Amino acid sequence: MDYEAVIGLETHVQLRTQSKMWCGCANAFGSPPNTNVCPVCLGLPGVLPVPNDEALRLTALTGLLLNCALPPRAKFDRKSYFYPDMPKNYQITQYDQPSTANGFVEFEFQGGTARVRITRAHLEEDVGKSTHFERNSGVDFNRAGVPLLEIVSEPDLTSADMAYEYLNALKEILIYGGVSDCDMEKGMVRCDVNVSVRPKGTQELGAKIEIKNMNSFSGVRKALEYEIPRQIEVLKKGGQLIQSTRRWDDVAGITEEMRTKEHAHDYRYFPDPDLMPLQPSEEWLAAVRARVVELPLARKQRFMRDYQLPAGDAEVFKNDVPLGDYFETLARQAKNPKAVANWVINNLRAKLAESGSRRESAQTPASSIWHPASEVDESGLTSAATEISLSSLKFKPESLLELVALVEAKTINSSAAQQVFAEMFDTGKSPAAIVQEKGLAQVSDAGAIEAFCNQAIAANPGPAADFKAGKAAALNFLKGQVMKLSKGKANPALAGEVLERKLKG
Ligand code: ADP
Ligand code: MG
Ligand code: ZN
Repeated sequence: MDYEAVIGLETHVQLRTQSKMWCGCANAFGSPPNTNVCPVCLGLPGVLPVPNDEALRLTALTGLLLNCALPPRAKFDRKSYFYPDMPKNYQITQYDQPSTANGFVEFEFQGGTARVRITRAHLEEDVGKSTHFERNSGVDFNRAGVPLLEIVSEPDLTSADMAYEYLNALKEILIYGGVSDCDMEKGMVRCDVNVSVRPKGTQELGAKIEIKNMNSFSGVRKALEYEIPRQIEVLKKGGQLIQSTRRWDDVAGITEEMRTKEHAHDYRYFPDPDLMPLQPSEEWLAAVRARVVELPLARKQRFMRDYQLPAGDAEVFKNDVPLGDYFETLARQAKNPKAVANWVINNLRAKLAESGSRRESAQTPASSIWHPASEVDESGLTSAATEISLSSLKFKPESLLELVALVEAKTINSSAAQQVFAEMFDTGKSPAAIVQEKGLAQVSDAGAIEAFCNQAIAANPGPAADFKAGKAAALNFLKGQVMKLSKGKANPALAGEVLERKLKG
């Protein structure tokens, strides 16, 4: 019998706010332990939480970006349990009336577009972080009370690869929307992986096994690559699976059981009496709607459609938003956007990377949704580095259009164009001025080309004879000689024609 996997993910994402969810303490990473704390986030008795409006707005914005509905009313509940990293003995979360629900995420998968339904996205607070030393343990409450969005998917995922692509797509959307920096290194995205298997073609769900607290997307993929065959193996041997919680051991590369009978938990959810239900006004909602951005997939598809770009180019401009924006301002005025894309991707991007690494990381952007530190992270999104270097380019954007036009008009050939680009990148001079100054204009004058060709043939009787004898490749060699003789300025197509005519004639 064949089995199939059924996967649903619960993804926790730290929201990009200045302060915590219920108090004014900084939402910051890397401070010394217990320095961003106050009576509210330490859970001392007698304090009152005040909701962070930006966290509420980012939650609603996420709902819109994930095609969810925003219900007219939401509320906060207390989830009771005891753990040392949570001194008030309950976590504030949203139980039966979340801020947003019933949406979907679309992403590219196996040559098509996959859709995963989103059950809900609810707001909750993060807890402290325990550290275990040799003889005792410590708790750092800097993270306690940081706003967390839990995004719950329907069990629509069917493979490890699909789960991986879903997570990357989700992360891209959240970064695009400025909802979260999604910095994995800083633990800003964590997820619980729910997975079961069932005979192919059947509808009933198998026993759900939850792998808790994964903090990397590649870890999620590896855990599923292990766990799915494990479950199938158990069933094939006639065994039974029971609902349980497991943990992923990244070193051993296995999952192991932590506990069963998860459903026996009683969290005693009840509405938090300290917090008013949320009933967003039309005005508030309008302000959130104004922050909706184009989704990554839509951007890629639009670049392919509007500028006739191949998928690879559009993907580059999806992953590097500042570079894509730069391209787009030029492409709108260009006759041949694909040629502009080639220059931006193959030349400009390479130059930026080169000069960026020379400067090391001396500069960091003051405020940007792109991570200053990471060049390319797991989702392939590039950093603020591009944005900064683009804004300090020496040449005007129009110069790049001019360069493309010079090549298209055959005023310069492609090797001269490379020289012009390098010079304009370094000095900011206009392409026309550089062509003049360096005498790079292409020679298309028939007489001059003919003279170069005669010279090349006379100096290379061997290859000339080879070509006559049918060795087509010998023509390229002779063409190369003509380019050399002309110091790179001959029109290569014309040179080829003349050579061929002379040798065949
Ligand atoms: P709980 O109430 O225990 O948290 P939920 O029904 O809310 O469980 O589901 C939590 C997550 O598990 C969701 O992402 C959901 O899609 C997924 N899920 C539920 N049942 C299964 C199953 N049998 N197999 C795989 N995933 C499942
Ligand atoms: Mg759950
Ligand atoms: Zn605080």
